[in-house]
Amino acid sequence: MGYLSRHSDAMGHCAICDEEITPLNDSKEHVVPNAVGGRLKVRGFICRKCNNGSGCEWDAELADQFNWFSVTLNVKREAGVAPSHPVKTVGGQGLLLHADGTMSPDKPVISTTEIPSGRQISIKARTRLEARKILKGLQRKYPESDFSMAFASLTEETSMPDGPIMTSFQFGGPLAGRSIVKTAVAMAFRMSIPPAGCELAMRYIKGVAATPPFAEFLSRDLVRIRPDKHVFHVVSVRGDPETKRLMGYVEYFGLGRFLVLLSTEYDGCPVQRTYSINPATAEEIKIAVDLVLSEDEFNRWLANDAVPDGSREAAFNYAMPVILRQMYARADANAFDRAYEEACRDMGIESSEALDNDQIMEFSRRMAHKLMPHLLRILRHRPRV
Ligand SMILES: [Zn+2]
Repeated sequence: MGYLSRHSDAMGHCAICDEEITPLNDSKEHVVPNAVGGRLKVRGFICRKCNNGSGCEWDAELADQFNWFSVTLNVKREAGVAPSHPVKTVGGQGLLLHADGTMSPDKPVISTTEIPSGRQISIKARTRLEARKILKGLQRKYPESDFSMAFASLTEETSMPDGPIMTSFQFGGPLAGRSIVKTAVAMAFRMSIPPAGCELAMRYIKGVAATPPFAEFLSRDLVRIRPDKHVFHVVSVRGDPETKRLMGYVEYFGLGRFLVLLSTEYDGCPVQRTYSINPATAEEIKIAVDLVLSEDEFNRWLANDAVPDGSREAAFNYAMPVILRQMYARADANAFDRAYEEACRDMGIESSEALDNDQIMEFSRRMAHKLMPHLLRILRHRPRV
């Protein structure tokens, strides 16, 4: 069967629910989920209902598993930013990591102390607005007390976490796995290979077959040259009529590295296409993926034996320094911008104004003073990466 006829058949039906696709229910499906920064879209692939339903649920689980990375790198989404991510310090302090690079306690702290003249309540809120809301609630609870002083005396303070931040990662599973498989099928679809030509993947996506057609591949690095300045996502699909295999490779943030066996009945031309993106800038980049596996490599992978001892650590040791370098560069830029803006504001100067020597000295002094906590933090805590 030629792909043209398969393609025209399959173009008309949703890859997930088989509903006929019309201009009314067609959807733009991201090949790599937009929640982790993907931009490339396909039309005529899945219906709107599935895009908002199952597809959305699978992608959300994947996005959740990679959320720490999305927040840390502030991945560029088409709408909104990655949701704040809960982390803990080694000492057990709960914090929320925000996409703007800042952190806040995970909840407000309200403590009450009995004193001879009554009761003293102290509030530590995350924002001024939250503090006002809590005060209003207390005012309702204790109408006999006067909170006007408290409203007037709200102060802001910046503090450091009480120790190093811990976080843990887990990738894969049936929901995120379906998102990964769907990404490979969408890439094949971009190459005019219809879902019907990805029978192993489709049986899994539709829940007909329980055996996952995807698994990690860490036997060797399939990415030819890894950038060391930024992380990337890549999806590559290769069809080989000799082995009859249609294989996909999906990698996120340099860590989740998955092979997907889409079909064992591939009879089209030899073909390979790759899409790759820097999720921190939304720029498409060039990444070469070697999808020519030896029979031994393929069979081991098929037998779930493609994660040699130490290979996960090696992937981690590649990705983490890259991510940390990006994270530190962002923290430095933020600290500098904040210090600059505050120094300008405190001295009441516009940045374009000409300054005399005394003002320049004063400005430098204020900048240094405001940058001090950040600089000390670098000196004391930042590892060299
Ligand atoms: Zn559908």
